Amino acid sequence: MEDLFVKALPLLHKLKKHGWQAYFVGGAVRDTHMNRPVGDVDIATDAPPEEIESIFPKTIDVGKEHGTIIVLLSGESYEVTTFRSELEYEDYRRPSGVQFIKSLKEDLKRRDLTINAMAMDESGRLIDYFGGLSDIKEKVIQTVGDPAERFHEDALRMLRALRFMSQLEFTLSEKTKAAICENSHLLAHISTERKTAEFEKLLKGKAAGPALAAAADTGLYKELPGLDGKQDGVRSAGVFPFYKLEKRADIWAAFLSMMSIDDARSHAFLKAWKLPGKVIKQAVEVGSRINQKWDRLSMYEAGEETLLSACAIHMLKKAGQIDERRLAEIRQAYSELPIKSLKDLAVTGGDLLQMRNKPPGKWVSEDLKRIEHAVLMGELANQKKAIEEWLNECNQT
Ligand code: ATP
Ligand code: MG
Repeated sequence: MEDLFVKALPLLHKLKKHGWQAYFVGGAVRDTHMNRPVGDVDIATDAPPEEIESIFPKTIDVGKEHGTIIVLLSGESYEVTTFRSELEYEDYRRPSGVQFIKSLKEDLKRRDLTINAMAMDESGRLIDYFGGLSDIKEKVIQTVGDPAERFHEDALRMLRALRFMSQLEFTLSEKTKAAICENSHLLAHISTERKTAEFEKLLKGKAAGPALAAAADTGLYKELPGLDGKQDGVRSAGVFPFYKLEKRADIWAAFLSMMSIDDARSHAFLKAWKLPGKVIKQAVEVGSRINQKWDRLSMYEAGEETLLSACAIHMLKKAGQIDERRLAEIRQAYSELPIKSLKDLAVTGGDLLQMRNKPPGKWVSEDLKRIEHAVLMGELANQKKAIEEWLNECNQT
């Protein structure tokens, strides 16, 4: 058993000591059986939320009505969810209510994919009612039970299926793929935020290419913000290795570029995905500079972060990999710029007022601009005295 599970064992033991069932479930069980690094260790139990709160001294209520409590233990936090079955689904996205139950099997049955519907007990024994392990071996994504039915309950599961395809480098089962083809329109009922969260994970996966191809094949792409009518673009965006980028803004900048969204429309495109303003701003900025010809002025205007991001994306587009040596040279060239911003100039607007002995006016910012440009281009030393002389000379001619 992996360390992260061992660390969480006291939680299971404590629940069991109080007479409840308790298991590891979900992504962590899947990942450990795939020899992938385990992320969050989630726990399922038949103890109702109030019991969980009374057994553990430190808990956070994150959704008691759905049966989810966070338990803080030895500096870690664990999501502990009460076994539940879901009542009738409304609007293709949420159950009308949940019912707390006693059966682990019933709890696992409501989960989306076979590979996500396994549990592990405190001795490390796998509980696998729906063929999750064999699907891991076959590298196949399929739903627990009839896919069409499961997608009618919650249409987001279609996009989750593609997200896991990308992250795990699995293929879709024929039946699951056919059900997505038939039901892709139901994704329209899902909030943009939920779609965006899954889509970002899809892009960041190693097999984003096949997953984007599946989105194009099944028609699911039509229900993603701004992608309707762009089937070919979605397919060809898949050649870009998004997983080699770390920053959220860079991933979206690369996506803009691969989808040939022109600069005038990129802000609205990203807004449709409801990304945070900061991410949009940065992605638009980087996106507009991917094909930039770099010189002192453009490096200065872009700033280091945008410069390096845009260059890395350009390299990935051209060669599929980042040339770290070249990137280091670019970083060096940037560091050698005489100034990085107006603040680095040896004079301020106040200095100019003193030097020229003229009433304030538009001329101050105009002079600063001229000085900034001359210093940046290496035509003028960034020293107060040199600048003063230069200004006097300029103003004489
Ligand atoms: P990750 O490593 O990305 O967190 P995960 O498998 O933990 O992967 P989560 O989105 O955190 O995925 O969900 C936790 C578990 O909850 C899943 O493994 C699955 O069993 C269940 N689950 C999540 N979303 C759904 C859904 N829409 N329908 C059914 N079950 C779901
Ligand atoms: Mg998780």
